[in-house]
Amino acid sequence: MASSTAVGRQETPEPDQFYEARQKVYPQSVTGTFRRIKWGLLLCCLAVYYLIPFIRWERGPGQPSQAVLVDFPSRRAYFFFIEIWPQEVYYITGLLILAAISLFLMTAIAGRVWCGFLCPQTIWTDLYMAVERFFEGDRHDRIDLDKAPWTADKVLRKVGKHASWLLIAWCTGGAWVLYFADAPTLLKDIVTLQAPMAAYIWIGILTFTTYALAGFMREQICIFMCPWPRIQAALTDEWALNVSYRVDRGEPRAGVRQGVQLRAQGQHVGDCIDCRSCTFVCPTGTDIRLGPQLSCIQCGLCIDACNAVMAKLKRPGNLIAYDTDINIQRHAQGLPPMRKLIRPRSILYIVIILVIGGVMAFSLATRASVGVNVLHDRNPTYVVNSDGTIRNGYTIRLINKAPAARTFEISVDGLPASARLEIAGATRDGPKTMSLSVGVDQTREARALVFVPAADSRAASTDVTFLIRETSTGESARHHDFFKAPGQ
Ligand code: SF4
Ligand code: SF4
Repeated sequence: MASSTAVGRQETPEPDQFYEARQKVYPQSVTGTFRRIKWGLLLCCLAVYYLIPFIRWERGPGQPSQAVLVDFPSRRAYFFFIEIWPQEVYYITGLLILAAISLFLMTAIAGRVWCGFLCPQTIWTDLYMAVERFFEGDRHDRIDLDKAPWTADKVLRKVGKHASWLLIAWCTGGAWVLYFADAPTLLKDIVTLQAPMAAYIWIGILTFTTYALAGFMREQICIFMCPWPRIQAALTDEWALNVSYRVDRGEPRAGVRQGVQLRAQGQHVGDCIDCRSCTFVCPTGTDIRLGPQLSCIQCGLCIDACNAVMAKLKRPGNLIAYDTDINIQRHAQGLPPMRKLIRPRSILYIVIILVIGGVMAFSLATRASVGVNVLHDRNPTYVVNSDGTIRNGYTIRLINKAPAARTFEISVDGLPASARLEIAGATRDGPKTMSLSVGVDQTREARALVFVPAADSRAASTDVTFLIRETSTGESARHHDFFKAPGQ
């Protein structure tokens, strides 16, 4: 039952109400520096999201040629020249940690700059508002249209808006599934209704969520559902930049004519003329003059609106501006502003980003393109043959991450010279060495048997090493295991 501080919302709900009714926000269009930055970022982000699946990246025969692809059937993720195997999922974890720390750094420097400029909820809501304005006009036209009785014109405008919203939502869901299969092929299959059912289900889910979140829920996601505004309070301090209103300069506020009269009477009047342009352009309906609020996503549009008003009045701009809590206090005390972008917390975040990024880059640059896993038979752990030899069974998995088929020599070390290695389907190179080829970017599983004459078996368990060596480059990998025999 919290009352909201935003202008236009009900300040005190009735005692018998559990929830405050939503007051629909009708943001007004605005021009200015922050609006231009937002348009630029919106276009970049949407272009990246919609076009990336169509970028090609040649990886060789039999390999997917899509630059960014999550290939669930073959259990691989591709990002340009990087290929992630299932056992390398820690790279994804590292990437998520990097993203989180970068977000912390952004917050430490400029508060909720992510929310105001880069969050998908903000970007799609901005896009939906632009469509809304195209069909229904600016703030006052939309308010009037909503109040007006249903006419053919109103129906046409509403149908046009919702049809466009649904088309954008469908394209959003459609683009998402293109990251999981060859984009041109899947797009053709979707259009000709031949795509897998899972693709249509995901498109349906994302169409619905985009339409609902950007079309209807809008600022309610930021104010009531998103955990980030709650978390960011712990990540920011008095030196972080936030959209702030200069109370010392703006107050006491008075309309233009009233201000002239009051000044003529020798009274002090602030620069704010109470025109409420800053509130009208706000996508969340916030009145920034009431101080920092959870509902402010720090998009900077109120700065553009107020600067336009100040320019018309021929007064200095930045009555509303990105500023720090420290400077708001210093302005009030008549002290000059101070900046402190580099602080212990920003240095700490930068160091963490550099360390994690460096470790990931080094690990990617030096990672091996061969690997071997060996699994000893569990039951029985050994078999004594009729000729007295002791046999142990293993399942060997060879890993070839190279974009070419390769042959591997497999040998076993740690056993007496009389030991023998047998691998189904492999070529023999020596008593304890065999060769097996593995296809392009594939793994190959093989059944291996190791035989040791009973007379040469001296311990119940002997440590052994399976060594694989790529025949042309000499690149190798090893796996330590054991050879079991009857207790001595
Ligand atoms: S736009 Fe500027 S002048 Fe107008 S109400 Fe907001 S702060 Fe005051
Ligand atoms: S108060 Fe200003 S910065 Fe905050 S959300 Fe509204 S327009 Fe954006």
